[in-house]
Amino acid sequence: MLPATTAEHATADPLAILQEVFGYDAFRGAQGEVIEHVCAGGDALVLMPTGGGKSLCYQVPAIARHRAGRGVAVVVSPLIALMHDQVGALEEAGVHAAFLNSSLDFQAVQRIEHEMTSGRLVLLYAAPERLTTPRMLAQLDSLHERGLLSLFAIDEAHCVSQWGHDFREDYLGLHVLHERYAGVPRIALTATADDHTRADIVQRLQLEDARVFVASFDRPNIRYRVVEKEDPRKQLLRFVAEKHEGEAGIVYCQTRKKVDETAAWLVGEGITALPYHAGHDASVRQKHQNRFLREDGVVMIATIAFGMGIDKPDVRFVAHLDLPKNIEGYYQETGRAGRDGEPAEAWMAYGLADVVNQRRMIDESPAADEFKRLQRGKLDALLALAESHDCRRVRLLDYFGEEGRPCAPYQNACDNCLNPPATWDATEAARKALSCIYRFGHHSQGPRSFGAGHLIDVLRGKATEKVAQHGHERLSTFGVGADLSEQQWRGVLRQLVALGHVVSEGEYNTLALTESARAVLKGGVQLLLRVPSETPKRSKRTGRVTSTGGKAAKGAPADLDAAAQARFEALRAWRSEVAREHNLPSYIVFSNAALAEMARRAPGTLGELGEISGVGEKKLEAYGPEILRVLGAG
Ligand code: ADP
Ligand code: ZN
Repeated sequence: MLPATTAEHATADPLAILQEVFGYDAFRGAQGEVIEHVCAGGDALVLMPTGGGKSLCYQVPAIARHRAGRGVAVVVSPLIALMHDQVGALEEAGVHAAFLNSSLDFQAVQRIEHEMTSGRLVLLYAAPERLTTPRMLAQLDSLHERGLLSLFAIDEAHCVSQWGHDFREDYLGLHVLHERYAGVPRIALTATADDHTRADIVQRLQLEDARVFVASFDRPNIRYRVVEKEDPRKQLLRFVAEKHEGEAGIVYCQTRKKVDETAAWLVGEGITALPYHAGHDASVRQKHQNRFLREDGVVMIATIAFGMGIDKPDVRFVAHLDLPKNIEGYYQETGRAGRDGEPAEAWMAYGLADVVNQRRMIDESPAADEFKRLQRGKLDALLALAESHDCRRVRLLDYFGEEGRPCAPYQNACDNCLNPPATWDATEAARKALSCIYRFGHHSQGPRSFGAGHLIDVLRGKATEKVAQHGHERLSTFGVGADLSEQQWRGVLRQLVALGHVVSEGEYNTLALTESARAVLKGGVQLLLRVPSETPKRSKRTGRVTSTGGKAAKGAPADLDAAAQARFEALRAWRSEVAREHNLPSYIVFSNAALAEMARRAPGTLGELGEISGVGEKKLEAYGPEILRVLGAG
């Protein structure tokens, strides 16, 4: 039995599908090769950065194979909350798709199951735990027997790895797909790809025979910046208000408490900010996520519980108020910025306490020693990135085994390429600090170890109460560091802890020397430190260059002339209405880039409108006349 809606006239050629259904001219990067391979029935493992265009890698083969009479593609996706929008985007493009999850009532489930078992559906999205239920497997068996199971796509495939931070128990059950449905092509996709995770994916999903496609992990449109923590909240506010006014962004914090506090504080400062963490009810999380996706310019303050599968393309910045655990986490989180390819920023405030915290979390975790060793190595790599004086992009790519070139020629170069930092030789200072810690330990009077604040006071020769109480003015290191500022000393200590020469211990974060401190004390190790950048003056005018442009300029592409700006605004208002009616985020109706192109070219006919990237046949038919009307009126 052939599925009823298989359109015999429709082409199964991938490029033609790309143009007709999605309205794009050409495949990007490895897409073409991946798609050809999967269309021909091969297995694939696709490692591609966020925004690289992974979805098309399985959606185009699903459509092509469906048109060739091969039935339904099953997409495994971990996030129930996002399936609605993913399916909505496909239906908008005229592709028959559906999801099965716990949010549906029984009748809806039956209707979708019927669409699936008849082979009419092109793509079915389901969570892994759903897929491996006996009911679902029986339905898949039936499809398979009739040759109507076109392919399996396993999105966010790194969830199968216990080494990663997104491990999902349910992903482990997916090996059944290979065992039960041999011959049905499988494509696994992920944006997390260190060697360990990759090996895990191959082994656990039994993808030994799959072809592996590795795209470059460079995200040229993201600027990376790391600033020294002084007054982090205020630094964040300046960053958001001055550089990203009215733009969507994500701010990551380590704890739920800090998420709530930071969000409340930002709201008080006039920023549209919402909190998100696993401590909130599911309904609150869903509500905040929807607002972030559907409204313009919402800043989400979140723990790492937020973000996986969020495919909002116009997130303009990702900020970290706390240090992530490792480079994989940092890369994934920052990667949520700028999926649309437009300039975006990754910003992190980083200080001594971050290093201390992360080290301590590893030390105090109940994990096995081998695991801890691995975590420490990963943290060290991230610390090296944060402390680096050279190109951060090169360091990031190097971590993923890719040889990068400094980003200096990019318009959106990293902070270090943009303003190469001055360095100073901190070797002598480091020795003074280490020797002062040593002397605390051998002083006759009172406790033997102290925290960073007191150490700096002693080095700088400050006559505090605590100094007097412990007789520390008698130490030979008292006042030997008066030539450096407190901020410089914090930098020295941070680097010493980052490099593992000093550890911070106990309830009071007291400092102690490690084995490796000996070499530094003996003068065998040179330390080059970045000269702290000056705290920016709080002039009201800095950075707010567009503020005179008023509200209309907010979010509109800067290169449009006044008439085109007006058309863009009119199109955007129209898009919001459509999005509301369809209960979808507006970017699913049309991307900003597509709207900008319409505003720029002001097409007068459907034919001209259809030329614009992102306008496929279905959307042209559904919205074309209205768009022409909006443009004509504008
Ligand atoms: P990923 O899942 O890898 O993060 P997506 O599949 O969400 O990336 O794609 C990112 C953006 O790039 C989307 O807006 C998508 O429509 C767009 N895109 C993908 N492939 C192409 C292409 N060949 N031409 C134009 N735009 C594309
Ligand atoms: Zn750089």
